[in-house]
Amino acid sequence: MSYDKCVRCGSCVKFCPIFDAIGEEQFSPRGKTYLLQVMDQIDEDEELGREFRRLLFQCTMCGRCAEICSSDVDLLRIWHEQRAKAYETAPEEFEYIEALKKSLANVRNIYGLPMDDRAIYWVDELEVDFPDIEDRLYEEGKNADVMIFLGCLMSFRGSQIPVLHSLIDVLERMDIDYLIMGAEEFCCGHPLDLIGDEEGAKELQKHNRGVIEAAEVKQVVTCCPGCLMQLRNHHQLDAEVLHHTQFFDRLLEDIPKYSQKEDFTYHDPCELHRLCEVKKEPRSLLKKMEIEFREMELSCCGGGGLLRLTDPNLSDKVIQLRAQREKLNRSTVITCCPACREQLLGTDLKTVDIVELLDQVMRGS
Ligand code: SF4
Ligand code: SF4
Repeated sequence: MSYDKCVRCGSCVKFCPIFDAIGEEQFSPRGKTYLLQVMDQIDEDEELGREFRRLLFQCTMCGRCAEICSSDVDLLRIWHEQRAKAYETAPEEFEYIEALKKSLANVRNIYGLPMDDRAIYWVDELEVDFPDIEDRLYEEGKNADVMIFLGCLMSFRGSQIPVLHSLIDVLERMDIDYLIMGAEEFCCGHPLDLIGDEEGAKELQKHNRGVIEAAEVKQVVTCCPGCLMQLRNHHQLDAEVLHHTQFFDRLLEDIPKYSQKEDFTYHDPCELHRLCEVKKEPRSLLKKMEIEFREMELSCCGGGGLLRLTDPNLSDKVIQLRAQREKLNRSTVITCCPACREQLLGTDLKTVDIVELLDQVMRGS
């Protein structure tokens, strides 16, 4: 087993956001790896098994431990496999997963809201400035160059509407031929992937693939790194899949200069930076706008790995700790992930998506 390679050096411990928040060894990657080794050596221990299953879901799946480990313990894959095994062994311990699965099976989104609501609230809001926005919603028979895949968070959360407004504004200014999947979009399957339900995820992805293929698009663009990962790795698309920062960085060379009055810090979303390896383009866009920024310590916002669902208090604790450290710098946090944005909005830090900055410079404001 790969976890046998753990030599308990402890390099991973201090980088784990959960250990950082709780300070107890069993929550750390080394602690969980040790528990796995112990469980291999003793007869089934009900109490230990239950504790280990709980710990597996008190993790943001940020991948920092796997990146740090010099013994090549494939930690992220281990957490994935063990989560699937945990859910299979004791489904009764995971009521929230049952609720999530039911919601995805019935209405194809994580919120349990009616499917049509995917393109209701934000459409109503955006219509004021973009009266023809409904024409951009995908329907059978429509084609375009680019398909915008919003994902559950951006489709349903009011807090994401300013980002969506900026995204549409920039696309319109650039005269991009695009469609938005809207009510035809199903969840990308990322939440199911995080609990090892490959079949469930595949079913959602098959539907999305059908819509994307029917629209004959050349590119699929999303602002959500979790959706990006699923669209790229599991949807089996012929179309190219890009994060919005990649899409804009490729097309925009001469961007007006941003009139900077505040200090900025750039926060790398874990799934974008570490799991999708999109590191260059967000920074390149900021440089093209001549924005000066500080790099935030590479650490998770606490919003990934379903932690908001499995342990919202712990998720809050992770982001509040980061916010306390950042507050000293009094800067606005730039990011480009809807989940990171949600987490940051729960603190007293100011946050902005890169596309909002892009929109501001294009509007000349
Ligand atoms: S860094 Fe790797 S080898 Fe070291 S304690 Fe963590 S998992 Fe074990
Ligand atoms: S994936 Fe992130 S949160 Fe989970 S154990 Fe590793 S470092 Fe900690």
